[in-house]
Amino acid sequence: MAVHVSTDAQGRRRIRFTRRTFNTHFHPRNREEDARFETAGPFQFQRYHRGIGIGNLGEPVRTAERALWWYQMVKRYADECGFPRFEFYVAPVINDETTPEDIYELADLPFVRGIKTLPWGGTTGAHAGGISNFFADRFRACLQAAQDINRSGTRFNWYVHAEWPDQRIPPVLREPMFVPTLGHYGESLPDLPISVEHVSKREMIAFVRAGKGRFGGGLTSHHIRVTTHMADGDDFLKCMPYPGNPSDAEAVLEAMLSGEPWWYLGTDDAPHLKHGHKLRQDGKPPASGVFSGPCELEEIVATFARHDRLEHLEDFVCINGARQNDLPDAVDGTVEFVEEPYEVPDEIATRDGNAMVPYRRGEMLAFRLAVDAAGRALI
Ligand SMILES: [Zn+2]
Repeated sequence: MAVHVSTDAQGRRRIRFTRRTFNTHFHPRNREEDARFETAGPFQFQRYHRGIGIGNLGEPVRTAERALWWYQMVKRYADECGFPRFEFYVAPVINDETTPEDIYELADLPFVRGIKTLPWGGTTGAHAGGISNFFADRFRACLQAAQDINRSGTRFNWYVHAEWPDQRIPPVLREPMFVPTLGHYGESLPDLPISVEHVSKREMIAFVRAGKGRFGGGLTSHHIRVTTHMADGDDFLKCMPYPGNPSDAEAVLEAMLSGEPWWYLGTDDAPHLKHGHKLRQDGKPPASGVFSGPCELEEIVATFARHDRLEHLEDFVCINGARQNDLPDAVDGTVEFVEEPYEVPDEIATRDGNAMVPYRRGEMLAFRLAVDAAGRALI
């Protein structure tokens, strides 16, 4: 269960994944609306064989019809970019109006492995797609439908953005406040797989761990490092769940490196246009989301290497997420990283004259993606 580690002729360490890499949470956006996905997509296709797209578009992906439209859009673009192998999965975002019938329809699509919930009003796209009451009868019926689907043999997750939907509560407290809700559904719906997305606070780390596999936990590359203080001072680090204290970041890092089978990579790569991030004159907050695609897997590889835990790297990036989503463990991966300084660009231009600002802009990382003579990733 380990990456392949070697030293090349120039004496550089090379780390190659032997299994399919899997980003269980990213935001591909709508290509018909703006140029974000056109710019951000290839960073994903070059690094991952598999990805789950979160459907909180301007007009959310909620119905089977729209899920199919989005699936085809992303697959077509992956083809155009030269990555026809890319396996794309859609996480439709349900809301207070969604019915159990909608859930059954979505589950008929082979590329839908679950449904996503967002806290009402709590993050980008949540106004149109959020759940306001996690104990409403209709919502409970939707989760019961999801459990029934599992009982009839199809793996179907509840992907939870686990924050309590109350705008009066300080952002850093919303994730810990959601723990009892997860505890309730974890017990009352024992056959519903629950994936807690982008776990960011030590209370939730402890909760997922105590479940010993009852819950899966997605982890990002930015929650191991960014704190409340850092995000307060930098619009490009603002994301939901809002980064916590240094002790929260340490807990996420420790979980990531632990080798425990319930943690997996879900980077929450969320490309925003530069102007969308500037503090707005109308008093509204800047868009939440970190554009980590250009460096997130580099960060993860460097982190496991620095802490001498490379033996757990494939579990975290390939195996555990595949298990959570019932995908086969495929041993034909080839993504490779070279231990060589890599400077993250300050910004990346989009076709329509705007720009996107990547996570760790202008900083030097220890590993870069290996490419062939033509500049193509070895995927
Ligand atoms: Zn997200």
